Amino acid sequence: MITKVIREELVLKTRKVIDHHHRFVIVAHVSPDGDAMGSSLALCLFLRELGKEASVVLPDSISDNLRWLPGAAEAFIFDEQADVASEVIADAEVIFCVDFNGVKRMGRMGELVAKAKAVRIMIDHHLYPEPFCDVCISHPEISSTSELVFRLICRMGCVEMLTPEIATAVYTGMMTDTGAFTYNSGSPEIYLIIAELLKVGINKDKIYDRVFNTFSADRERLMGYTINRKMHIFDPYGAAMISLTRDELKAYNYRKGDTEGFVNIPLSIKGVVFSAFFREEEEYVKVSLRSKGDFPANLVAERYFNGGGHKNAAGGEFFGTLTEAEALLASVLPEFFNQ
Ligand code: 5GP
Ligand code: MN
Repeated sequence: MITKVIREELVLKTRKVIDHHHRFVIVAHVSPDGDAMGSSLALCLFLRELGKEASVVLPDSISDNLRWLPGAAEAFIFDEQADVASEVIADAEVIFCVDFNGVKRMGRMGELVAKAKAVRIMIDHHLYPEPFCDVCISHPEISSTSELVFRLICRMGCVEMLTPEIATAVYTGMMTDTGAFTYNSGSPEIYLIIAELLKVGINKDKIYDRVFNTFSADRERLMGYTINRKMHIFDPYGAAMISLTRDELKAYNYRKGDTEGFVNIPLSIKGVVFSAFFREEEEYVKVSLRSKGDFPANLVAERYFNGGGHKNAAGGEFFGTLTEAEALLASVLPEFFNQ
């Protein structure tokens, strides 16, 4: 038996909103990851199964390893087609906000979504949801938003409507937000859900292969360079830091998504429980933080890097130089390790 998790009242409210409207838009966060893509596409395909008009609108482009996902090719990308995407958002009767908890996480399209006339429904698993939605299904204890979408579909009595495409999207999000079930994945119910998805007809090994084994030779060489030359271990602490400049990225023909997973590398070193990755962008430094056990990566992100996230996976942005970001991290480590 899978427990209920989502409150009955919220399931009924969502069901009613779906029944009474026709045009739906699903939006996710900037740099959509596997869970953002999985949850938005699963919901979109499900709504279409119900006979609704549904579109996914993303703030920016989809990384290569997620483009194959069912329905991804039809998603609107705000950065690339702002006019059309704005129209789709303005015309929506209902907007589902999935896998993020605040307007800022939608980048430039955030204001449009927040001010749209549509009914807004949040489905998310980040702490502290902002109150910009009419219905808020927020479960930080669940490891992926895609799992929540699956649970919602089941609770609305629609499990029979799951297609292999919907199940594939759900599985992708569950898999990517748990590092292929290596963290945040101790709940037995995750595996009961996977069993259901397998029955619907997913090919889990093929999904893994398509998401994780698609790197370019340039990316593998960049990773080699990064580990060899750019990984710094803070010896007195169980901490590590990696940073890459724009020039270094350029030297390896960097493409979006190429540094995905780099932040996790130092965590496989014995004793390292916290890892930070800084990537120099045009106007800021993108910060990714990961930890093991009780180390609160989200607190580091919230306090010092204009961000947030989960205890073991967080991120943010630093408005300064890469060197300043590195120095800031080094200076705040005692605060988190000497407790
Ligand atoms: P990543 O390092 O993969 O970009 O992000 C890991 C997690 O950190 C995301 O799932 C998200 O919860 C959180 N995160 C990343 N960047 C930001 C940010 O700029 N702001 C906030 N609030 N959270 C972020
Ligand atoms: Mn997620």
